[in-house]
Amino acid sequence: MEGRIIWISGPAVRARIRGGIKMHSLAAVGREGLLGEVVAIDGDTATIQVYEDTTGLEVGEEVVFTGRFLSVELGPGLLGRIFDGLQRPLHALREMGGDFIRRGIHKEAIERDKGWDFHPLVSRGEEVGEGDVVGIVDEGEGREHRIMVPKGVRGKVKEVRKGLVGATEPCLILEDGREVKMVQEWPIRIPRPYKRRLPPTRLFITGQRVIDTFFPVSEGGVAIIPGGFGTGKTVTEQTLAKYSMADIIVYVGCGERGNEMSEFLREFPRLKDPKTGRSLLSRTIVVVNTSNMPVAAREASIYTGITMAEYYRDMGYSVALFADSTSRWAEALREMSSRMEEMPGEEGYPSYLASRLGSFYERAGRVVTLGSKEREGAVTVVGAVSPPGGDFSEPVTQASLRIGGTLWALDTDLAYRRHFPAINWLRSYSQYIPSLRDWYRENVKEDWAEKRERGLYLLQKEEELKEVVMLIGPDALQDRDRLTLEAGRLIRDGFLRQNAFSDVDAFCPLKKQYLMLDAFLRFYDEAMALIEREVPVERIIESPLMERLLRLSESSTEEVEALLEDLPQEIRGMER
Ligand code: ADP
Ligand code: MG
Repeated sequence: MEGRIIWISGPAVRARIRGGIKMHSLAAVGREGLLGEVVAIDGDTATIQVYEDTTGLEVGEEVVFTGRFLSVELGPGLLGRIFDGLQRPLHALREMGGDFIRRGIHKEAIERDKGWDFHPLVSRGEEVGEGDVVGIVDEGEGREHRIMVPKGVRGKVKEVRKGLVGATEPCLILEDGREVKMVQEWPIRIPRPYKRRLPPTRLFITGQRVIDTFFPVSEGGVAIIPGGFGTGKTVTEQTLAKYSMADIIVYVGCGERGNEMSEFLREFPRLKDPKTGRSLLSRTIVVVNTSNMPVAAREASIYTGITMAEYYRDMGYSVALFADSTSRWAEALREMSSRMEEMPGEEGYPSYLASRLGSFYERAGRVVTLGSKEREGAVTVVGAVSPPGGDFSEPVTQASLRIGGTLWALDTDLAYRRHFPAINWLRSYSQYIPSLRDWYRENVKEDWAEKRERGLYLLQKEEELKEVVMLIGPDALQDRDRLTLEAGRLIRDGFLRQNAFSDVDAFCPLKKQYLMLDAFLRFYDEAMALIEREVPVERIIESPLMERLLRLSESSTEEVEALLEDLPQEIRGMER
């Protein structure tokens, strides 16, 4: 199918077409064959978003529609790589063009000349079908890359390769002559299929107290992390990339400041994986967008990222996708929409902002995979949002909140006071609590939910009391209330605060989280009993026990246990 360009506006191009073309199919635009995607069809006119610089393109030039869809390559060798929004490997682009994007460069994501040591798991005569793992290769550091039969393929195995196989060579030939290769393709806007979805009943362990104990996200769930500039979105996402339970990380970066992405590219490869001591990058796929990349590529990047995440999910891995920041993505959407002269919605964003965001976040989930030997895999998604001025009522934050199950509301005041993570405990929430209750009961402690409630209650109470103090001064408070105020402060400073850059505290095991909260609550109860027996509150507040409690975050789990053991005696000591 062919057409002719009738209108050009930056990355948006309209062409007059003859005959039918498919929505979202690819187009080669102009003499240089720039890569484009059909985003609207109206009668005999197609609107195409072009992924490359359209400078010099002219009305009257030809457009060729290929009928294919914007796809990514999936196979061994993705881990440890850095791609742009169209899955073009950055280092290769740099080598070939000097800059990120030179027009007409369509370098494959998966290296063609590299061979992989293929260990077959099936033999001649065996029947295989979609999703079946037919063999494995070592993707580096012993990480098992499971080669799967692509969707729609089924048959008896006629020939099996073993040993060194090139990525695009067949590793398996079926009786009907069809080949199974290590590399497969998948269109980025279509979710990869699975057998069935699983409920959000498992905790996505992050090692962050305020998250795991108070505002958890389930494995396969969605967490939204909005916050103004400098509130800790990037640090939080990178801390989770390092310490969370995920096997595989997909990091989609849309830089906020001019040089943020180049900084990121310099620094991310230096991050150490606490699990192996090696580079975190070796189990990470990075998708970056810099300001010199065309906006359309930025629009595609989150789908490129989540398609690769789903692919590793299908192998049976727990994958975490971090998007930082989706606001920059939404701005790309807005710019494309305005170029196409669409009717603008709220704050200039197109009316389909929410549904586009939805078609990304909906791909999170824990699933049973295709294949005769069922595997479980998950994609957990954490999306950062940078609302202008930190105002959460703006469209991107609002649309994200309608989709996400957990909100970590970052707070400018907290960040200013250097309370990190600056997650506001009064505005954040998790909708996964009911479905996670049994998990905590079995894996942490039977009364986790009650302890959590009490912790939140004390924090709320502290807030109310602080207002009272502000209105009528601290002397107006009774001893009971002063103790409550102190208990709130303890939880705030001793529990919620967590230093991402401390070796001891960057990751807090669940057991330690529980014991710490237990210690604070028991201290509160016992101290309250002292107050009932008319022990002056000063004696409690100024006790060395308070100091010890405040230092628990930097202590080992054993030290927390020791404190819990000493607690009754310490309390009795205050009674004389
Ligand atoms: P944002 O991405 O929201 O603009 P950053 O993640 O870059 O903000 O955080 C800004 C600064 O705040 C960091 O450079 C760091 O000094 C501090 N910070 C953020 N989170 C933490 C944390 N969990 N622990 C310690 N410091 C933090
Ligand atoms: Mg940031």
